[in-house]
Amino acid sequence: MTATLRVEGISKAFGGVHALTECTLTARSGEITGLIGPNGSGKTTLFNIATGYERPDSGRVFLGDREITGASPQRVFGYGVGRTFQLTRIFPRLTVLENMLVPAQHGAGKNGAAGNGGRGRAHRHLRERALELLAFTGIAGHAEALAGTLSYGQRKLLELSYVLIAEPQVVLLDEPAGGVNPSLVNHLAERISELNKQGRTFLVVEHNMEFVMSLCHQVTVLDYGTVIATGSPAQVRDDQRVLDAYLGSGTGDG
Ligand code: ADP
Ligand code: MG
Repeated sequence: MTATLRVEGISKAFGGVHALTECTLTARSGEITGLIGPNGSGKTTLFNIATGYERPDSGRVFLGDREITGASPQRVFGYGVGRTFQLTRIFPRLTVLENMLVPAQHGAGKNGAAGNGGRGRAHRHLRERALELLAFTGIAGHAEALAGTLSYGQRKLLELSYVLIAEPQVVLLDEPAGGVNPSLVNHLAERISELNKQGRTFLVVEHNMEFVMSLCHQVTVLDYGTVIATGSPAQVRDDQRVLDAYLGSGTGDG
């Protein structure tokens, strides 16, 4: 159920802004890879390109041996690559459980409920699975609450739950701990670690260095759209170019 996600030589400009220049990075199968860098260094743009939300100007994206460059977000999702967004995209006026059952995602993975036959059964199965996942992430107690009433951290957990219902092989998380209460951050880290032990590949953008250093097997660092380091958390932490990038930008480890 697992796969390597690789981007090779990706460049992307918005008008005159070179958001990414020849970026190569691998989220190795079964590992948690961190993607860090100061604000504006291109992390979200790289996620958008890897998941079909933006097209690269050049470069290629691979899921295992399959090239997925330029595939639509739905197609990439169908191939088993799930993602969350830096700003959560939940529906505040639906309940937490209803959010989990929004059909957009259900074409992906093994739980596809699209198609007409056995709809009621499929729906019951999805509902059960949704409740299991909400229990796993720790917000099942809020299943019937409107999603708009959740705390910021709980919304992030809902978004993670939502992505998991499709059973993706690779999960990209854009700042999962950003703005989240410290007690929930630990909970989130444990859940990600557990999902990884079950075999899922993760690529995680995060400013919380403790989170990154304790969770990730490998870390890639972006600065001004260029990869300046890749290595173990300890290697990257001690890399002079990385230290310079963070000191130079004035954004600390947030
Ligand atoms: P990060 O996630 O590391 O903070 P982003 O990928 O969001 O960085 O942004 C990288 C650069 O690209 C920034 O200079 C940003 O302003 C620019 N950028 C990102 N998306 C767009 C867009 N849709 N249009 C114009 N500029 C963009
Ligand atoms: Mg970003």
